[in-house]
Amino acid sequence: MKNDRKEEKSRKTARGDRPGPRTVPPQQVKAAPPATGIVVSRRAADRLRQGHVWVYASDVEGANVPDPPPPLVPVADSRGLLLGTALYSPASQIALRMVSRDALNHDAWLDLLAVRLRAAIARRKPLLDKDNDSCRLCFSEADELPGLVIDQYGPLAIVQRLARGLLAPGTSEAIVAVLRNELAAKTIVERPDPRIRELESLPPAGNEPLWTAKGSKPRTQTKFHINGLTFHYNAEAGQKTGAFLDQRLNYAAARDWALRLGATNRALDVCCYQGGFALHLAQVCRSVTGIDSSHASLEVAEQNLTANGPRLTAQVDWVEADAFAILRDWADAGQKFDTIVLDPPAFAKSKRAVEGALRGYKELNLRALKMLTPGGLLVTCSCSHHVGWADLEGAVASAAADAGRRVRLLERRGASPDHPVILNLPETEYLKCLVLEAE
Ligand code: SAH
Repeated sequence: MKNDRKEEKSRKTARGDRPGPRTVPPQQVKAAPPATGIVVSRRAADRLRQGHVWVYASDVEGANVPDPPPPLVPVADSRGLLLGTALYSPASQIALRMVSRDALNHDAWLDLLAVRLRAAIARRKPLLDKDNDSCRLCFSEADELPGLVIDQYGPLAIVQRLARGLLAPGTSEAIVAVLRNELAAKTIVERPDPRIRELESLPPAGNEPLWTAKGSKPRTQTKFHINGLTFHYNAEAGQKTGAFLDQRLNYAAARDWALRLGATNRALDVCCYQGGFALHLAQVCRSVTGIDSSHASLEVAEQNLTANGPRLTAQVDWVEADAFAILRDWADAGQKFDTIVLDPPAFAKSKRAVEGALRGYKELNLRALKMLTPGGLLVTCSCSHHVGWADLEGAVASAAADAGRRVRLLERRGASPDHPVILNLPETEYLKCLVLEAE
């Protein structure tokens, strides 16, 4: 094969985690466009050179690839200068996700994937202990593994492959080999995200475990622990990979601030899912109410309540309702709470949806502020990347003005450190959590 030598060379580069310094500045290299591969616009090339890793379909200027398209492609600018190697998703809006600045063949990529996955897990190990046996082990672009999300829930590792290129032969074996070596996991389960699979034009996938330890029964359900509390996990149900591990430290912060402010009489957890905030608040409050529109989530919340019973001080109840409707009714009826958490779903899934989303955030915060007792605690979150800090703070400030309340910012918090933010990749920052005291 004509390219063997070139591939062997790039393979060597790829064994190290990062490419070495270039000896020749790229603009001085005279190279022909790759015989196969993708040519991207100048705008996309500039973005990639600045360290970003995505190319949108609208920035693909030429594609010389066989049919069916390969999982991994060389990427060049319009002058033919190699920009690197990317996972290729021809049906997706994000057509290319760069994995290296060098030319990589498939074997070299799988070696690199293993190196990066081991590094991602090593970064998480200090976060894990008896009280916290669950975390995000690999967070896609933030761990240089675009499209790969892996969460640990106690003895289960849950794998999501969200880019078509990750379904290539050998990939799941490479992932499983690292997880088996690095973790005490008993079962590794793949949990495909149906929405993403549709966007990527991928067939639906089964829920068969990828691997089960010898002598263990394949299991998709378990209990896991965060901050010393017990939660139920079911790989075949629920949202995300199962739980909102990104909120782990915010749960503890909400509990600790409630205690510090003495805002511990009545607490409300709006959009409570399986009770993350509610059960933490139930360690210090007298009564806690969790609201969610999902019946199935509240059933798990009730199981989680039972599992933690002796450790909780509060009377806890769950209300199945639409948050907007019930907050309006309760605010109008003069209900009062000392602590309120608002953690609604991502209202803005795209830039265009931001305006509507901000109206939603303002409405929820307004109702909450009307119900908060003086000196009460408001923990208000947004998990939309497109809603920035200034947007969220503006919406809350405007709600505070309408409610006639002054709100003091106690803390700006993000996702837990197992969901790192890479400043060069702004899309890795999404979760924002404001901790406020309402005068
Ligand atoms: N606070 C949770 C995560 C919340 S995710 C935790 O830390 O685990 C958002 C939740 O909002 C989901 O459980 C979803 O069922 C719920 N939800 C979505 N729309 C809603 C609405 N209009 N009213 C009430 N709950 C809603």
